[in-house]
Amino acid sequence: MSEVRQARTSAPALWTGARLEEVRSQFPLLSASESDGRLVYFDSASTSQRPRCVLDAMEDYYTRANANVHRGLYGLAVDATRLYEGARKKIASLLRAPRVEEVVFVRGVTEAVNLVAQSYLRPRVGPGDEILITLLEHHSNFVPWQIVAEQTGATLRVAAITDQGDLDLEDFRSKLSSRTRLVSVTATSNAIGTVVPLAEVIEDAHAAGATVFVDGAQSAAHGDLDPVGLGADFYAISGHKMYGPTGIGVVWGRFDLLSEMPPYQGGGDMIREVRLDGVDFAAPPQLFEAGTPNIAGAVGLGRAVEFLEELGPQALVAHEKALLEVLVRDLESFEGVRIVGSPTHRASVLSFVMEGVHAQDVATLLDHEGICIRVGHHCAQPLLHRLGETATLRVSVAAFNGSDDVDRLLQGLERVQRIFR
Ligand code: PLP
Repeated sequence: MSEVRQARTSAPALWTGARLEEVRSQFPLLSASESDGRLVYFDSASTSQRPRCVLDAMEDYYTRANANVHRGLYGLAVDATRLYEGARKKIASLLRAPRVEEVVFVRGVTEAVNLVAQSYLRPRVGPGDEILITLLEHHSNFVPWQIVAEQTGATLRVAAITDQGDLDLEDFRSKLSSRTRLVSVTATSNAIGTVVPLAEVIEDAHAAGATVFVDGAQSAAHGDLDPVGLGADFYAISGHKMYGPTGIGVVWGRFDLLSEMPPYQGGGDMIREVRLDGVDFAAPPQLFEAGTPNIAGAVGLGRAVEFLEELGPQALVAHEKALLEVLVRDLESFEGVRIVGSPTHRASVLSFVMEGVHAQDVATLLDHEGICIRVGHHCAQPLLHRLGETATLRVSVAAFNGSDDVDRLLQGLERVQRIFR
């Protein structure tokens, strides 16, 4: 082990030993014994693993309270509604939403962006209007705006990044104008980990009269950026990237904005009255939750929010930051490895390439050793193109990763290098 690698075990914020084991033991998929070859899971930016308490909460709903919500009067239905609405309250509290009715359950950030694009923005824009996003965006925060621009004749503008991978604030400001109707920005880049200066972006956008949508897919489980407190108008999160289930997420919106928006989908549970000659709609959030919702998903997400609180958000952020520093230092001193992007503030995600070895080969060989890292364009093709890459290897860290995982990764990379030399 190199001196650099030895030094890191003393980083005080890093979870090691019993604390790390205690966290890890809560994830059934990761708690195989050493002899089975413990999995090193470094792909939480794509989807995190689920702790036992989230799985239990969902099973408990299905085995003890399974019924539809908002409909039945019998005890089970009341229990199901209580669990579902209880989850909404937990999420409202996590997001510091002024009103619980501002929390709308959706499938994830993708559906959240589509909902806001179609229901909020589409009726409000036309030729001459502009939508401003950044080059850091995931395709989910690109394509729905491209579609709405195509549908309405509005123009989609994209703020540049610097060579380091930071948002170029000067370029962003130069593209903001009284024509800008909406700014949509990620809090953290899923491809290179850039943390966007949200406070400045929101302030500038509002000064120009634009509404602000914040994509929190990569930030909700990695710190307290508080977009709602910073004045965002919409904020979206995905449950499966924050230890919760897949197929559930939330879009938070200012109540006055949600109240003016037409429904996104029609169906049961989003109406007050349906007549032959028309329909009276329910108020938000029901207005945007047509049909039977993902009840177990919401319950699981509510439990995931508690799990995050139990971990201690500040300690978790400090652990992940320390681990990322270890990773950066070790990869920087690894000959033949080049880290892609060096943003001023980076959180939870790191991309790199290995000179002379195709990224897919690296990921495949690491997989043979039980190390899961992501390879590809990370659904951020415009960003990778700007950085001169078509594919990178991406490591993303979570509560259950430790410096022993980094050791396994480095050993794996050394073996890959030996094969290709
Ligand atoms: N935005 C960012 C920054 C992401 O990383 C992702 C998923 O990776 C999404 C949006 C889309 O999230 P989902 O697939 O949960 O809808």
